[in-house]
Amino acid sequence: MQDLLIVGAGPIGIELAAALTRSGLSVGHVEAGALAQTVVDYPKRTRYFSSPDRIAIAGVPLVTFNNEKALREEYLAYLRGVVTRYDLPIAYGVRVEAIRPVPEADGGGFRVETSAGVREAKRVVLAIGDMHGFRRIGCPGEDLPHVSHRLDEPHLHFRRRLLIVGGKNSAAEAALRCHHAGAEVTLSYRQAAFDEDAIKYWVLPELKALIRHRKIHFLPNTEVASLHEGHAVLRSNVQDQQTRVRADSVLLLTGYVQDKTLFETAGVRLEGENHAPALDKDTMETNVPGLYVAGTAAAGTQNAFQLFIENCHRHVEKIVRHVTGEPVAEGVVNQAAQTYGLAES
Ligand SMILES: Cc1cc2nc3c(=O)[nH]c(=O)nc-3n(C[C@H](O)[C@H](O)[C@H](O)COP(=O)(O)OP(=O)(O)OC[C@H]3O[C@@H](n4cnc5c(N)ncnc54)[C@H](O)[C@@H]3O)c2cc1C
Repeated sequence: MQDLLIVGAGPIGIELAAALTRSGLSVGHVEAGALAQTVVDYPKRTRYFSSPDRIAIAGVPLVTFNNEKALREEYLAYLRGVVTRYDLPIAYGVRVEAIRPVPEADGGGFRVETSAGVREAKRVVLAIGDMHGFRRIGCPGEDLPHVSHRLDEPHLHFRRRLLIVGGKNSAAEAALRCHHAGAEVTLSYRQAAFDEDAIKYWVLPELKALIRHRKIHFLPNTEVASLHEGHAVLRSNVQDQQTRVRADSVLLLTGYVQDKTLFETAGVRLEGENHAPALDKDTMETNVPGLYVAGTAAAGTQNAFQLFIENCHRHVEKIVRHVTGEPVAEGVVNQAAQTYGLAES
């Protein structure tokens, strides 16, 4: 039985694994996809809103080639470097399907059921993130082949009519990028105006200018009634009116939901409107003794983002201190939260 199993190799799971390398504990680490699968799934060439020093991990500086905020591709390369530097033995393509606490009378710890067999560990840390599924809007036609919940390449929409649904950063950025790639973009948002705090500061002014100059067609206060091959029907939520919008493809960029299966199988209580795991904020241990949560997984399903990479580094310090009884070694955990006075939620 291993002393500790980390589930998930995103930035925070990696930072925790690096911080535990000199702990003397036997640590296992499994990842359902590739290294940092959540980042892999971003649209290509996404630029982080966080500055490099805030998303660097494990004491390894993140240096971008032009000193700007990192691109997805730069951050993935950086994370590969960190894992190589610490020689972290992560098992990729191993999905944890259930976590069962074992009664003390039977030896204690956890029986962890994975896609590659059963593992046993005295403690488990869930660093599984919060972006496991897309928030569906539940309209007829949502599963048609020309409808997608994620932007891949703006290029794919060149000289095509594209309907984007959503009004936060993903939708705003996709509208801008696809417009620049030659798409004819219509943006439907259920609110009257954008939430300025939810959109990257370098995206919003240009988006507003393009809308003002009718280069991007903005339909505020609208919701999707139904999607069809070649067109969508939108309904106004302020008056009794429907609009037919021609669309060769549709991007529903309406956010993500967290898969609760692992919390539920382990007996973790879920709290609040986000259904966040119940945990001790000083140790990150859940109501199930020996089961911890690190990273954005601790926030549950985030409607407005409260936890990001930059304010999750502290989870690593707390977990290391609780499981080893020692503070984390100096320099192996990013101090952005302390430096910038970031709130933890
Ligand atoms: C387009 C986009 C831009 C973003 N920009 C920023 C930004 O600028 N700054 C910022 O701080 N955040 C940003 N985010 C959010 C950012 O991705 C998360 O904050 C970050 O990835 C959280 O790190 P994490 O390690 O907690 O979880 P994740 O990176 O989500 O890692 C979780 C890992 O766990 C794995 N996993 C999940 N379930 C299982 C399972 N059952 N078994 C095994 N493995 C599993 C996943 O495959 C994944 O690799 C952005 C998100 C998107 C979509």
